[in-house]
Amino acid sequence: MIELFSDTQTRPTPAMREAMARAEVGDEQLGLDPTVEELCARVASLLGHEAGVLLPSGTMGNLIGLLLHVGTTGEEVLLHELAHPRRFEAGGAARLVGAVLTPLASPTGVFDAAQVRAAAHDPGDRYAPRTRLVSVEQPTNVTGGHVWPLETLDGVLAAAADLGLATHLDGARLLNAVVASGVPADRWAGGVDTAWIDFTKGLGAPLGAVLVGSADTIARAWRFKQMLGGALRQAGVAAAACLHALDHHVDRLADDHARARRLAEAAAEVAPQAVDPTAVETNIVVLRGIDAPAVREALARRGVGAGALGPSALRLVTHLDVDDADCAHAESALQEALRETEASRAQG
Ligand SMILES: *Cc1c(COP(=O)(O)O)cnc(C)c1O
Repeated sequence: MIELFSDTQTRPTPAMREAMARAEVGDEQLGLDPTVEELCARVASLLGHEAGVLLPSGTMGNLIGLLLHVGTTGEEVLLHELAHPRRFEAGGAARLVGAVLTPLASPTGVFDAAQVRAAAHDPGDRYAPRTRLVSVEQPTNVTGGHVWPLETLDGVLAAAADLGLATHLDGARLLNAVVASGVPADRWAGGVDTAWIDFTKGLGAPLGAVLVGSADTIARAWRFKQMLGGALRQAGVAAAACLHALDHHVDRLADDHARARRLAEAAAEVAPQAVDPTAVETNIVVLRGIDAPAVREALARRGVGAGALGPSALRLVTHLDVDDADCAHAESALQEALRETEASRAQG
């Protein structure tokens, strides 16, 4: 099976497993795991922040981000309507933070300063939830892996600063944006209050995300990590996989991006309305206006896994475990699947 369902489907490589086996370890909760300490320092510096904390997952990174910035008196977060905390985090923001998540709309997942200014409530307004935080996803996920233009992000951060709002960056695939744009990670993440990257997406590690911020912020984040049951012990085995990924799996993300573009081009030859290949910037391809369950099933019959995003959209994600030969197979499978399903739609 060529699994394009998600870039979470990678298996640790033999070299990554060796790095894990060799890892020096200690008690992570006591700050005594040297490999975890090295990873956190390295990610903090990469993202332009003072300190970092290792978390089991990116979902916990978003949850702790919200807990850090949002209080308990009816407070509000501005974020894209399809942002991960709204759709894929089991309502944790409601259950565990008590936040109002106010959606901002846009087809790409990118929103602008004017939208933030229009949505933010006047702090003197007794009736409205109190706006506290702006959260951005870079690159976007289910809208199609789009990279925020730098000036748009800068504009949003400037508006947030003006309005006295905190900022959080969900950088699950931030290094994909770095490779796609050539803009360094600290330029994307240095200006927000908190940011995190995931090691289980394109980077190919089995677990781990690192949340960064100021030393004070990360000290506060540690309390939430303890509270949520996320504090670890000999986590150096996981951190070693993450360090290995930083050394060996970043530059190659460009291959994933090229393969995603090829998949989109193949799809557009058969179903030009479904996708604009020139809009594919990273490793995610979203096909729209198709019979998604039928295309998914036709792909599965040809040994290719894909993820339906509802009845008419399908997501394909390239990653470490998809090489050029797999991609070529997936391209022809996709063309056949689209021909088959578009033909039966035309008849039906
Ligand atoms: C995957 C993902 C997350 C959650 O990360 P996990 O490590 O799977 O918990 C959050 N935000 C975005 C944009 C993601 O793609």
